[in-house]
Amino acid sequence: MHTKSKAYLIGGGIGSLAAAAFIVRDGSFPGENISILESASLLGGSLDGAGSPMLGYSMRGGRMLTTDNYECTWDLYKSIPSLNNPGKSVFDETVEFNERHVSNSMARLVDKRRAKVPVSSMGFSMEDRLELLKLSQADENTLAASCITDWLSHAFFETEFWYMWSTTFAFQPWHSAIEFKRYLLRFLLEFSRIETLAGVKRTIYNQYDSLVLPLQTWLLAQGVVLVTDCMVTRLDHQSEDGKLVVTAIHCVRQGESELIAVNDGDLVFLQNGSMTDASSLGSMTTAPEKRTKADSGGWTLWENLAEGRPEFGNPAAFNSCIAQSYWASFTVTLKNPAFFEEMTRFSGNEPGTGGLVTFKDSNWLMSIVLAYQPHFQNQPADVQVFWGYSLFPDRIGNFVPKPMSDCNGAEILRELCGHLRFDLEIVESANCIPCRMPYITSMFMPRILSDRPLPVPRNSKNLAFVSQFVEIADDVVFTVEYSVRAAQMAVYELLGIDRKIPPVTPHAKSLQVQFDALIKAFK
Ligand SMILES: Cc1cc2nc3c(=O)[nH]c(=O)nc-3n(C[C@H](O)[C@H](O)[C@H](O)COP(=O)(O)OP(=O)(O)OC[C@H]3O[C@@H](n4cnc5c(N)ncnc54)[C@H](O)[C@@H]3O)c2cc1C
Repeated sequence: MHTKSKAYLIGGGIGSLAAAAFIVRDGSFPGENISILESASLLGGSLDGAGSPMLGYSMRGGRMLTTDNYECTWDLYKSIPSLNNPGKSVFDETVEFNERHVSNSMARLVDKRRAKVPVSSMGFSMEDRLELLKLSQADENTLAASCITDWLSHAFFETEFWYMWSTTFAFQPWHSAIEFKRYLLRFLLEFSRIETLAGVKRTIYNQYDSLVLPLQTWLLAQGVVLVTDCMVTRLDHQSEDGKLVVTAIHCVRQGESELIAVNDGDLVFLQNGSMTDASSLGSMTTAPEKRTKADSGGWTLWENLAEGRPEFGNPAAFNSCIAQSYWASFTVTLKNPAFFEEMTRFSGNEPGTGGLVTFKDSNWLMSIVLAYQPHFQNQPADVQVFWGYSLFPDRIGNFVPKPMSDCNGAEILRELCGHLRFDLEIVESANCIPCRMPYITSMFMPRILSDRPLPVPRNSKNLAFVSQFVEIADDVVFTVEYSVRAAQMAVYELLGIDRKIPPVTPHAKSLQVQFDALIKAFK
């Protein structure tokens, strides 16, 4: 049916990889008619993960997934064969892994005395409960561009609940009240188990090895053309019957300019914005370089398309304030088991069962996660890797008199050991690679409905958006699921596919009464 049409996907994040898979699986396109154009040298976008014991491992993020949500993600990964377990899908192997390694955090919050904070109570006052109820019941038109602080009083931000919820999902008090409300409803089931993270599901390895590689392998087997080191710089378009039609793609491929003609019947999918845009890595001796969108050019295509076209959204709502959208992470490679042994003793959790440990009184608001080992497919048995992040990297540390933004890996390790009261010798041979992400929470910036385009904007004939920056009712950004759902919606609409997209599970509707009861019950 689609033997002549071609599909071009700009950006090679999970959104584009998923879109290509849906085009092949559900749209019956021959794989060779689909091209993914990615500016980086590897596919996967934000789902990166690479390194070696010698150079150190690095990943910008570590993902928590659930099986109670992530409907489109699992719909996709039920069709993608595992690379390590013949006959099983990625979905099957992930579920089985999580049955063997159940999350049950015993040291979710640690205070300034290095004491584990009791978290069976959420720390709510009656006022907090009432304000939370009011916010969770307000409609999105009322919430509009308001911030969380417009709805919740100062004391709320000192509750155990806030420390756990904000560090689990990376919320800041100044972020969008709409997004916060959507999270409360979408992850309602997590509300009652946020202190143990019992609902969290993990991939076997980091997400590049466990999610990107199997999907990329499957796409290659279908004949999909994967082009890396290819920066798309401009889209030519014209208007047909009042609809925008992309007619050509300009790109720079390995330093050479190229023009791809987009013919009648061809389709273009654009990743219009990335939370890891302009990110940079440091080392044990250097802090990451401070880059912005001016260095990356990562938002330019969307900014140009949106100019004078309100239905294509408003990128400025998301990418105009790095001070509010920025934080930093770090990955530590160890060749001595002492740190993992001490952490296991202290936390009571074997690696892979604890999830985030947050130092709630730390100036940087630092958290670390010790995943099940090995966390990289090529990681030898005598090497350990863990990841951490800080929500306030612009503040002076408690043990290092500098903002984290200016710190190298050695200084970050000193700060971490200070909070844990570990001797520095324990990380003597460690390699800590810091990562600065100026737009990491850009999706959470306060915004109004029209700031995000629909996956297929009303006035578009052959262009769709696949990213965290599209409008999808009820779903929540800062998730793999959001990009995969956007991909499925965009592909089904542009290709006219008559297959049901798995709906957002209505935990909130069926459990609203339970939610109210929960809030009332928390002391
Ligand atoms: C630190 C961190 C923690 C996270 N935690 C979780 C979690 O716990 N749970 C969860 O579900 N999700 C989590 N996420 C979110 C999840 O990883 C992202 O939502 C998802 O990976 C975004 O995928 P994407 O394909 O939409 O965009 P991206 O992965 O950002 O991909 C966009 C791609 O487009 C490319 N590109 C941009 N412009 C151009 C151009 N002009 N030409 C060519 N290529 C271009 C970029 O190089 C990039 O590769 C986390 C992310 C991070 C960074």
